[in-house]
Amino acid sequence: MEVVIDREGCISCGLCVSTCEDVFQFADDGKAEVIKQPEGENEETMAREAAEGCPVAVIGVE
Ligand code: SF4
Repeated sequence: MEVVIDREGCISCGLCVSTCEDVFQFADDGKAEVIKQPEGENEETMAREAAEGCPVAVIGVE
């Protein structure tokens, strides 16, 4: 699995960070970034949830 964020469109709502803080964190510019790729079933599930829940649909899961 690879997770990417189209950071330009991020509105800093925090959903992804609160869903899976091991994968998503806020960068210095206030937008979310991927700090590491999901490892294991639990993180992959959380990353998918974050992607589905992102209000502006800028998280991609491949
Ligand atoms: S859920 Fe989407 S809009 Fe919200 S912080 Fe994460 S990437 Fe940004």
